[in-house]
Order: sequence, then structure tokens, then C-alpha cells
Amino acid sequence: MSDPYTDLYGRRVHAVERTATVGQEPIRLTGVLLPPAEPYGARRLHVDQAAVIEVETVDWILTDERTAAGRKADRRVQECPAGRPVYRYGDLPAHQLATDTMLRRMRRRRRDGQAPIASYMLNKGYAPLYAVADAEELPPLSPVRQEAWDRARTCALCGATRSAGAPYGLGHDQQRYCEPCQEPAAERFFRAQHAERREAAAAWAREVLADPGAPLLVVARPWYPSLHLMYANLAGEVLFDHRLQPSWNDREPDSVQPPAPGTPCYVDAVDVAPQLRDVLTARRLIVWDYELDHLEHFLSDAVAGTVTLPIRDGDRFARHWSGWLGERDLSGPTAYRHNVRFRRPRWPDTPAETIATMCEGLRQMSQSSASGESGEGA
Ligand SMILES: [Zn+2]
Repeated sequence: MSDPYTDLYGRRVHAVERTATVGQEPIRLTGVLLPPAEPYGARRLHVDQAAVIEVETVDWILTDERTAAGRKADRRVQECPAGRPVYRYGDLPAHQLATDTMLRRMRRRRRDGQAPIASYMLNKGYAPLYAVADAEELPPLSPVRQEAWDRARTCALCGATRSAGAPYGLGHDQQRYCEPCQEPAAERFFRAQHAERREAAAAWAREVLADPGAPLLVVARPWYPSLHLMYANLAGEVLFDHRLQPSWNDREPDSVQPPAPGTPCYVDAVDVAPQLRDVLTARRLIVWDYELDHLEHFLSDAVAGTVTLPIRDGDRFARHWSGWLGERDLSGPTAYRHNVRFRRPRWPDTPAETIATMCEGLRQMSQSSASGESGEGA
């Protein structure tokens, strides 16, 4: 009951042998202190990179590996609510202490009644840590399960294997890769995606260009409080290019700031909205991405009713264009490990450039793989 070392169970300790002979160099060991295996047994030390030995008080002096000052200086939590010492990802002596999951990865499980002697800090709460030395070996796996075990620990790219421990990480294609192969595997996955999306983009562009309904290329840029609306036919011929003035804004905009030569002039939204609604709702619209939400609000305001433009999700140019260009987005705030994100194409500076980019992009994509094309012309 009055074991002076109870507080050290589960902790990393230094053990110094008490020597009988003066002047003789004592044996010094470091490891994790384990409680006795059975009642009234000796407490034990799982020595680093070595076996478990019994450390009787008469033979050994045990001290915490961390000095009192060191423990005081460390402001992190050092004991879990149950009073056990706390380990973290960086300082866990994984050969001596393990959670249930870690034990299973070593093909072990804790014995009946084996109590935890430390805690592992998780994002939320703690997982109990058990002495690895006291856990029992699991029976060998069946051949089928052994195969699955090995497969999860075999790299699908270089064939590296590990016999124990966590399975290799999943790649984007749901195959498992060793850490050095994760990036090459991600790159390979991205290239395959790119090939697919390039095909899809080409098919879309051809379909749009062949549409007998003559779709319109539409750009709307909010220019508070006005909205710059430009639309063009597929040949890039601009059919409408004005800044729409909201009905509630009764200032004379051009008198406030006269437009520079070449910039579109203002029109009152209420005057043109019915006509715009009729044109835009009757045609298929090719848009850059999401910017036409503003236009819908604007027109709805001007005609005092709901205007819903017939924008198909598949007719957002930028998505096909990014898939066709196939640049991996490895920079900026979207970068993360082994990502396979497609870089979004830069939004051109002006509506006129946007129309021109969409026009040219459609042309390039439709001509991208000439192989399927040749048969059709004949
Ligand atoms: Zn590998």
C-alpha cells in the first residue's frame, strides 16, 4: 500500500543500482516503470530498447526522468483526470506503452484485467495506454486476413512493405502508398483526372459550338451600384455592352463621373430589363462561373418580379477550362499535402477579355483532340 514509487508508474524513470562496494560504478538504466505483475510482486522497469527487469527498492534508486524544475516549466497538462501520466504524439515511448489500437497493430491485445498505466492525449480527451510488455500476443491471422493485413502494408507504387504498425496511407485512388510515394501517386492520379477532364471539356466545347440554338456568352460584373453586362455570340461579336443603373439610384451617373472614351455607357435597368429578360431567358447562356447571380437579382429588381436565368451547371466555362488546362494548384491557401486540386483559371480583368477568353477557349478545346473529328466531316 505504501509503495513510494506508485506515483512513478507509467512514467519514464532513471534507475541507478545501489552498489555494495564503494567506488564501483553503478549500473544506470532508463525506461518506463511498470507496476508489479501480480500482488506483492516486484515493480518492473521496461528498459529502453531492451527487456523488462524487476527493480526492487533494495537494489535500485528510481527517479523521474524529468526534474521537478523541468516539470514545473512545462505548462502542458501532465496528468489526465484519472491521475495517470500523459504522453503525446511526440514523446510516446511506443515500444513500452500503447493504446488498444496501437496494440492491435503490433498484433497484441491487453490481458484480461490489465489496467492502463498512462494516458495518450488525443484532440479530445485521452486514450488509455497499456504496458506493451504485459499485453498478450494475438493468435496468427487466417490466410485471408493475413493477405489483407499485408496488402494494407504494401505500397501500390514501389512495393515497399512493413510487417507491423499502421497501414500505409490511402491515396486519392483508394490504393495505399508509402510516404515517399504519396506525392508521385497523387501526381499520377491528377494526370489521369486531367486526361478525363480534357476529354470532357473538348466534348462540351464541340457540343456548345454545334448548338443550333446559338448560345450567348454572358458576363456580368457588379460595379456598385451598377452592373456591367456584356453578352456576345459564339463568334465573339458583342451584342450588348452597358452598365445597368438600378432603379433606386436616381443620380445622373455620367454627370458624377463621365465615362472615359471606350467605356460602356449607363442605361437605366428599368428601361432595358424586360427586353433583356426576354432575350436571356430564351437562349442558352455560357457563363464564366457564378457571377450571373448578381444579374438575376438586378433584373428581378428592375422588372419587380422574379427573373431566373436558364444557366445550366454544366455551362460554366471556367470549370471546363481549368480541367482542360490541367494545372495543379500547389500554391496559396488551398495547398495541402498531396493535393490533386485543379487550379482555377484567373478571371480576366474586364468583361471584354472574359468574352474573348471564353471564345478562344471554346475554340481551343473543341479542336483539342482531332482524332474523333475526322470521321464526322465525311
Ligand atoms: Zn512506395
